[in-house]
Amino acid sequence: MSCGRCVAPGSVLIFSAVMEGEVAEKGAGLTPALMGRGALVDSYGRVLRDLRVSLTDRCNFRCLYCLPETEAARNFYRGRWANMPNSTPILQQWVPRSQILSFEEIERVVRIAIGLGIRKIRLTGGEPLLRQNVEWLVSRLSQIEGVTDLAMTTNGFLFSKKAQALREAGLGRVSFSMDSLDRETFKKMTGRDGLGEVLGGLALAQELGFEPVKVNAVVIRDLNDHEIEVLADFARTRGLSLRFIEFMPLDSARAWLKEMVVTGREILERLQARFSLRPLGLANPSATAKRWAFSEGRGEVGIIAPVSEPFCGHCNRLRLTADGKIRTCLFSVAEHDLRARLRDGASDETIAEWLQGVVKHKEARHHIGEPDFVAPSRSMSCIGG
Ligand code: SAM
Ligand code: SF4
Repeated sequence: MSCGRCVAPGSVLIFSAVMEGEVAEKGAGLTPALMGRGALVDSYGRVLRDLRVSLTDRCNFRCLYCLPETEAARNFYRGRWANMPNSTPILQQWVPRSQILSFEEIERVVRIAIGLGIRKIRLTGGEPLLRQNVEWLVSRLSQIEGVTDLAMTTNGFLFSKKAQALREAGLGRVSFSMDSLDRETFKKMTGRDGLGEVLGGLALAQELGFEPVKVNAVVIRDLNDHEIEVLADFARTRGLSLRFIEFMPLDSARAWLKEMVVTGREILERLQARFSLRPLGLANPSATAKRWAFSEGRGEVGIIAPVSEPFCGHCNRLRLTADGKIRTCLFSVAEHDLRARLRDGASDETIAEWLQGVVKHKEARHHIGEPDFVAPSRSMSCIGG
């Protein structure tokens, strides 16, 4: 099955130009520069430009859609849909520290990837701000020629402490995760009474000139879906770029059920009933969000609907986990061991060639909601969202 936003297995999309979010004809259509250095082109002709780098699998939050280890999370899943497999908490096993890539190793991988046409780097996790001296890494990455976009996704709890240093180090953009503006719901969803800190971080990011400041909100039925309008209004009045995200089956307890997903269509209907919205079009073909501006007020709202409206056909993303595994898709069931190569003395050229081979395994699309869907063995905090 294939649609405009996904590729059918075995097909090769053919586009003539190589540009942001592009898809290249196999072996042809590449600019001379990319031909010379070699690009990361998968077997469906998608050119990869975006590398998500997870700095750690550890986190200071326990979001119930990611690491549902709190009593509140267990109660939620045991409630209406009764989908908590057993009463024993499923605790995340952290990767031993010796297996976590050093900043020097990450910098080397980013340099190699940039040489292969990667342009956007997003630092994520786990919680990236838990890495000591993260601003050092940001500063090193921001100086690499060819990095056109250096961003970070954070839960925001520690952001105020690091904001100035990150800005000075060259971080361009920041996305905060904030699923609720109600202190109790926030606590229930994240396991932490930290709404005040996150709001403080958001305000400071705007003050320091991060642009745009994005807010990600995962919407879960009967948990925070009553706040769709409130969150949108917050973005409208504060001039934020809000992204509503469909709940994906990436929680460590494997408690996800499709009944818990509030679809992008439903979110849009709710927003349109309340606000006058003007469509903004995709930022580029590989963008994940459909976006709208508010006719009155500032800010914008976007919807990321990977479950109900997959956008795999133009996916240009590659992921590096904190323990040095390359993942070609959020939902990959196989990972490719880059750490072993980094630590076995492989040259940059050897690693570049290896990466070009690895991306050939990039999946055509995910299979959420289909009978053959297999959830990845690691949760979102380990994969790097
Ligand atoms: N800790 C940071 C944070 O929360 O922003 C960065 C890592 S987190 C895994 C990255 C993003 O993934 C967050 O915006 C989070 O809301 C999202 N996320 C995590 N689990 C998810 C799930 N099961 N479905 C949809 N989005 C999810
Ligand atoms: Fe931590 Fe981010 Fe996962 Fe929440 S979504 S538990 S903040 S990694």
